[in-house]
Order: sequence, then structure tokens, then C-alpha cells
Amino acid sequence: MNKIPVITSAEQSDQAAKKANLLGMSKDELSAFFVSLGEKPFRATQVMKWIYQFGVTDFFEMTNISKKLQHKLHEVACVVPPTVKYKEFSQDGTRKWVFEVTGGSLVETVLIPADDGKQFGRKTLCISSQVGCALDCSFCSTGKQGFERDLTPSEIIGQLWVANQSYMENVPPTERENRVTNVVMMGMGEPLLNYNPVVAAMSLMLDDHAFGLSKRRVTLSTSGVIPKMYDLAKDIDVALAISLHAPNDELRNELVPINKKYPLKDLIKAAKSYVYDENPRHKKHITIEYVMLAGVNDSDEHAHQLVDLLKDLPSKINLIPFNPFPHAPYGRSSNNRIHAFSHILNQAGFVCTIRQTRGDDIDAACGQLVGQVADRTRRAKKWQESIQKRQSHHE
Ligand code: SAH
Ligand code: SF4
Repeated sequence: MNKIPVITSAEQSDQAAKKANLLGMSKDELSAFFVSLGEKPFRATQVMKWIYQFGVTDFFEMTNISKKLQHKLHEVACVVPPTVKYKEFSQDGTRKWVFEVTGGSLVETVLIPADDGKQFGRKTLCISSQVGCALDCSFCSTGKQGFERDLTPSEIIGQLWVANQSYMENVPPTERENRVTNVVMMGMGEPLLNYNPVVAAMSLMLDDHAFGLSKRRVTLSTSGVIPKMYDLAKDIDVALAISLHAPNDELRNELVPINKKYPLKDLIKAAKSYVYDENPRHKKHITIEYVMLAGVNDSDEHAHQLVDLLKDLPSKINLIPFNPFPHAPYGRSSNNRIHAFSHILNQAGFVCTIRQTRGDDIDAACGQLVGQVADRTRRAKKWQESIQKRQSHHE
């Protein structure tokens, strides 16, 4: 009764049998689904609470639903998150999952806890939106992988669901609590190029009947797909981060090739429009991400150019030490260089943070999500094979 749902082959076959997967459906879709079964639409919010707040996938555990409806749901529906291919939990509290999504592709999700180590302290989950990415930024291992496919709403929200599940082991359903406090769409892929599924999944993150996260705690990160930034401002209220990485077009064209299509002047204009709000109490800002590449974009001159570029944009700057990967054409800026760069931004009045690299022992530093997933899977397979070999040797 109190067991934690795991993905069993029975559940996998539910999907194969084309049962409706309720995970990832919006409240409206779920209401329509219940109406199609001859039920009242409010069943949707009841079931959403079981799925998202108590992590329950078995309809027979949903105790405020009639036995008859439980049986009906068991026949026609299922709640199936993406399959966990393998997971690693680090000493410092960082957790990483590799999911195998339909069709066999792999995506990564990383959970990074705040330093305070509190059981209920801040826990930020870095979620993927696509398998691979078409934008080919020169410093990004996901980009090097190329684009494979978009993730569905259930594959996106399923990452958050599984991360929360990992804290629910041996806890009775009604005593379970979601522990992930913040979500950043900073895993694999460009979220604004998988727009509808990403907005659908983020709506569930904010929905009080689902995860109920505050809009300031859900952040979408984009390399600057300008038309979709305007759409986003209309469709959903979440925090926005822009992966800038260069303070002038010439350098940005090289590092973030989509800049050739959507140059800096237009990007800053779109960012200003995103934060603009007539009500001064709704003060918003943009997070600017800037990866520190030794000798490429990290000089004092670049910092001064950045100050100039961002002078009229309410923004916080996050400097990200580059995470090297095999055959990467860059190195990480030294700590001294990063601090000198940050000092110039601080002197100009910007709030500037330097991202801590966490989870190094499990290769989970954010932004590094992926790229070598396939490689690592191969390695994991080899490792599993060698364990099996050793075991059979001892038998
Ligand atoms: N496509 C989106 C979101 C995913 S990338 C975007 O580009 O914003 C998430 C963040 O990780 C981005 O700021 C990206 O530039 C950064 N990143 C990618 N590769 C990195 C690396 N090797 N080292 C450090 N940060 C990296
Ligand atoms: Fe795609 Fe973002 Fe990587 Fe660029 S940095 S290739 S946009 S995932």
C-alpha cells in the first residue's frame, strides 16, 4: 500500500496498449477526458492532486474516487513517467537521472540542492526540453550532439515528478510532500523551439492542483529565439534567463550562431519588453547567463561592453565557469579572471553571481547536462556487464 510506484513492465505495456497517459495532461484536457467517460469535470483536480502532490500512480490508491471509477480508470488510463535508465545520487546532495524516452533516446535531469544542506531547503531541478539541440552553440556538448526530437509534455513534467518521487520512499501517500522548490529549463535543448509542450509542462508546474510552484521559481532559459519570447510574455508568467555569453554581435555569432538570425539589438529589445510591466510593484528582471571561456569572452574589455549593453535592462548576471567536455575547443577561465570580470560588473551596479560547480563527483554540473549521455550509457552498460561477469564468475 505504501510502496513507491516504480515503472513496471505492466505499466509500460499499459502505454503500449494505448491507455491514455494522464501524466502531462492539462487541467482542461483532463476535465474533457473525465467528461468523455461520463464523469463530472471536477474529477480532474482530484486526480491531479493524487498524481502530482502525493505521487500516486495506482488508481486503486485514490481513495476519494468511487470503486467503479477506479476500475474504469484502470481499464482505460495510466500514469506513466519516462523510464529511469539509471540514476546517481552524489555525496553533496546532487541527484542525476538519465531517462529513456519513447523511441530509446536518452535525456538527463539534474537536481542541485542549496549549500545549507537542510532537508527542506532549496532544491533546484534542471530539466531537459528536447533530445539534443539544433542550435549548435560552440561551447555546448548538447549542441554537438545535434537535434533528435522534441520532448512531450509528459516527458518534460515527468522529470519533475520522478525527482520529487525520489524523496517519497517509504512515506505513506497522504504524508508525501514535493521537495523540489525551483525548476530551471536549462537541461538539454532549446525550450522555446519546443514551445507548446514546454508551456504546457510549465503550466502544470505552476498549477495549484499540480506542483503549485511560484512563478518566480520556474525559469525558462533561452539562447534568444526572439519571436517566441514575445509569445511567452503573453502565454505564461515565469522567470526568464537569456544565455548571452558575448557582449557584441561578432563574438556572439561565433559562440551562439542563432545570433546571426536574431542579433543583440533585437534580443535586448525583446528582453526589455519581457520585463516591462506597467505596475511598478511587479518589478521583474532578466537573468543573464554568461559562460566564462578562457581568452575568448572574459577580458576587462568584454566586461565593459557587457555593462554598456545591459545598462537599461533590469538584469542579474550569472557567470558560469565553462564545463569542459572531450574535444571542447575552449578552457575554463581562471578564478582570478572570473572575479576580476565580476568586479567590473559589480562596480557598475549589477548584481552578479558566480555559479558554483556542484555534483562534480557524478559529472552533473548544470549546463554539462548531456552530450556524453550516450557515451556514459555505453560506459554504464560495460560496467553492468563487468559486474554480471564477475557475479557469474563467483557463482
Ligand atoms: N538552450 C537553452 C537552455 C539549455 S542550455 C539555452 O541555451 O539557454 C542551459 C545553460 O547551460 C545555457 O546558459 C548554456 O549556455 C549553458 N551551457 C551549455 N554548455 C555549457 C558548458 N559546456 N559549460 C557551461 N555552461 C554551459
Ligand atoms: Fe542548444 Fe542551449 Fe546548447 Fe545552445 S547552449 S546548443 S541553445 S542547449
